[in-house]
Amino acid sequence: MKKMMRAAVWHGRRDVRIEERPIPEPKVGEVIVAVSWAGICGTDRHEYFGPVFIPVTKPHRLTGCTAPLIMGHEFSGLISAAGAGVSGWKEGARVMANGTLSCGVCKPCREGRYNICDKLGFLGVSCDGAFAEYVAVSAERLFEIPPLVSLRHAPLAEPLACGIHAVKLLGDIRGKCAVIIGPGIIGLSCFFAALEAGAKAALVLGVGTERKALVEKSGGFYADITKQDPLEAALALLGGKADICFECVGAQTALDTGVRLLAGGGSLMIMGVYEKPPIFPMNDFQEGERRLFTSQAHVDEIAAALSLLAAGKINADALITAELTLDTLASGGFEDAARHPNKHIKALVKIGGETEHPV
Ligand SMILES: [Zn+2]
Ligand SMILES: [Zn+2]
Repeated sequence: MKKMMRAAVWHGRRDVRIEERPIPEPKVGEVIVAVSWAGICGTDRHEYFGPVFIPVTKPHRLTGCTAPLIMGHEFSGLISAAGAGVSGWKEGARVMANGTLSCGVCKPCREGRYNICDKLGFLGVSCDGAFAEYVAVSAERLFEIPPLVSLRHAPLAEPLACGIHAVKLLGDIRGKCAVIIGPGIIGLSCFFAALEAGAKAALVLGVGTERKALVEKSGGFYADITKQDPLEAALALLGGKADICFECVGAQTALDTGVRLLAGGGSLMIMGVYEKPPIFPMNDFQEGERRLFTSQAHVDEIAAALSLLAAGKINADALITAELTLDTLASGGFEDAARHPNKHIKALVKIGGETEHPV
């Protein structure tokens, strides 16, 4: 008889069930992690109302998996077993992982850019993920959690790495003014990463004032777009248009705002996921030699994100807006997190293992 574990399994739109599943066995190069905490990501919210990327009829091009699948890719935990060929990782090590799944042979993979693999997949979307007591991950994707970062805070390093990666793609941004549209976790991760990379000023635009104090305490400006015109806010607070706009919403209005606020020669970074294909004002871009950037997840930036958390540069507790269990996740918690993305920055699921907050 196989040993069983509890897991949150995606069966279909708004249908996530807690089920007993066999504890995974590590394949060659894999470890099994006993999950302590897992975060609900924007991706998970889209899939909850989806499917967007979860394979339902056709098996995934890389993993061969189809739904039902265990969701979740932002997690922390302790290694409980290691497969053949794994070296340098011990049982009990405090770890998290980059959830990217890649083929290893395509051109981007060979260049180390496995986040844009031709056959890209994602833990908890293209194969079983971390909303479970145990998850199998490739040892190559592991990051050790520094002692100064609690297992509860560590899952935040995954979305924070998205912002760090996006900023890296923009090149040297020292002395530049940034506008961030959408103060969700991805917008905030771009905000933190931009300031850390030397941006002169950063203005976060959002609906309502819930994120105002957090942004201002972290050294940025905030404007409520229901009360103030975004361009007026930028002119007043930044002293001009933006050198960089991070569009972190994924809606036509947000894209239009990003374009309107961008100075000539400026860069627009697209981080939002568009449910409808947007209309893009190409002529405005050409006229001002503006540049369009996109960013996809991250490569090795979780290490930098963990360092920021370890250095106390990010108020992790302020980013955690809900704590669920597997049971409360299935009995309304997921629905609430998915329906009210503005209410939550990061909703965490407490799954097992270490409970102390050592920091
Ligand atoms: Zn995520
Ligand atoms: Zn590849």
